[in-house]
Amino acid sequence: MNELSIAYGLLKDLQHESEKHGVSRVSRVHVRIGRLCTIVPEVLTFAFETASEGTVAEGAELSIAVVPARGRCDKCNIDFDVETDTSVFFCPQCGGVAAEVISGRELEIALFRGTSETTS
Ligand SMILES: [Zn+2]
Repeated sequence: MNELSIAYGLLKDLQHESEKHGVSRVSRVHVRIGRLCTIVPEVLTFAFETASEGTVAEGAELSIAVVPARGRCDKCNIDFDVETDTSVFFCPQCGGVAAEVISGRELEIALFRGTSETTS
């Protein structure tokens, strides 16, 4: 996955959210990334720093939380942790291929802090 295009995507969301909440300067951004996204946090941090220049989030601190992967088996109706980095999971109970990934592919802004324009 291309960290730089992800950084641009995050910035686009941030810009949108900032406008919505009247934030003029973003100081800190918390991002949740699923383990299956194959993103290198250090690379994303660097890409974010580069891409945020001149935007509302310039100089903002990026905090990345990696979300563990979990699968769900429809047959057994159970959820289980996925330890591998592959995208095909096998149910630990029946050995079948899990139908659903319930977490591990997230890529979202969990929270961001900023300051709003106080001068009127
Ligand atoms: Zn099963």
